[in-house]
Amino acid sequence: MALTGIQILKMLPKKNCGECGIPTCLAFAMKVAAGQAEIEKCPYVTDEAKATIGEASAPPIRTIKIGAGDTQFTTGGETCLFRHEKRFENPTGLAVLTTTEMSDADVDGRIERFKTLRYERVGVMMQADFIAIKDSAGDQGKFTALIQKVLDNCDANIILMSDKADNLAAGAKTCGDRKPLLYGATMDNADDMASVAKESGCVLGLRGTNLDGTVELSEKLQAAGLKDLVIDSGARTLRAALEDHVVSRRAAIKTKFKPLGFPTITFPCEMTDDPMMEAMIASVLIAKYAGIVVLSDLQGDILFPLLLEQLNIFTDPQRPMVVQEDIYNINGPDENSPVLITCNFSLTYFIVSGEIEGSKVPSWLLIKDTEGLSVLTAWAAGKFGADLIAQFINKSGILDKVKHRDLIIPGYLASIKGELEEELPDWTITIGPREAGHLPAFLKEWKPSN
Ligand code: SF4
Repeated sequence: MALTGIQILKMLPKKNCGECGIPTCLAFAMKVAAGQAEIEKCPYVTDEAKATIGEASAPPIRTIKIGAGDTQFTTGGETCLFRHEKRFENPTGLAVLTTTEMSDADVDGRIERFKTLRYERVGVMMQADFIAIKDSAGDQGKFTALIQKVLDNCDANIILMSDKADNLAAGAKTCGDRKPLLYGATMDNADDMASVAKESGCVLGLRGTNLDGTVELSEKLQAAGLKDLVIDSGARTLRAALEDHVVSRRAAIKTKFKPLGFPTITFPCEMTDDPMMEAMIASVLIAKYAGIVVLSDLQGDILFPLLLEQLNIFTDPQRPMVVQEDIYNINGPDENSPVLITCNFSLTYFIVSGEIEGSKVPSWLLIKDTEGLSVLTAWAAGKFGADLIAQFINKSGILDKVKHRDLIIPGYLASIKGELEEELPDWTITIGPREAGHLPAFLKEWKPSN
């Protein structure tokens, strides 16, 4: 059972010292209860209280880390069924499958596409996360050779797939510090697989025959001392996989059912031979709770929409995406270049900056902190009024960067032109276009007024 803030407060030292980054123990307790702060942040809490609170406040889907270093992948940690209830924590990982039966050219192509298919969207770099390496023929030599090839050629996180515990042990050894996910333990090899996972310090993926079998296997592996698991119910049709994902998530969230309280791995690559159908299946499973989705190949026209879906689902719906308040140089501006201002809602920034960049007109783009609100919403909320814009202009440093005193404001702020002229008497205020798409033509015509 989750603890309330008051129950947590009773276990805190009540020094109100603020060393946890929060001024009082009560406020800290409330944040821990809400899952917004970690109990470890308090240096004075006893180990006993830490264990009690940590256990009670742990997310119902266990947080699992795969890999090491900068590219380490985090999955699980989920606490709700629906994104609007709170937020989804860790985006679904996308993997591409390679096997020991593929030709060198097929493997090389997948590695190359893994490295090159990267997309920037609203300031976020999106790409696949894993290369899955399958020991198709149970041949340890071929398996480790393929693993070495992948390790030598890219920094992907690794999923090792084999039915043989010995081969997975050899594969984990080849991976060294890269700490792959080992897949997949079954009822037949569970003891050996558990030993390999424990010895190598890697996360173990299990493959059930159905959901009941998955529960049984999960309990067996936990009884063997494994805490970090990734589960596959064994479903290989969209309908069965979707049902299993929904039932597992509900059981873990609603009833704290521990055997299913782990992130999942799923294999659209084994559900169809049709790339479009595979993309559709992956899309459904990203939306409904998949921790890792393994694809047969990476192609831009399929990967990009899946990454975009993942980005949309895993952003916090209660917190707008923002860019930093600053002066942004676009196309190498100088002291005669136009000065534009807009809000810091990241979508606005990327659309406006993209259009300015496309215009090839050197420009200064001022981004004012509006707490992530769009232009009109920020104005209506009193965060983008003439007085605040004037204060920002005066402190931003733009006065030292340009000789002229011309400011272009968004077309939607036309009504504050007069007010802004009063606040900034040395400046000429020009109303820019309402739509960012009209900026290139506008900027090409623009000339300083003095
Ligand atoms: S560090 Fe601990 S004792 Fe100090 S305010 Fe935070 S919770 Fe209270």
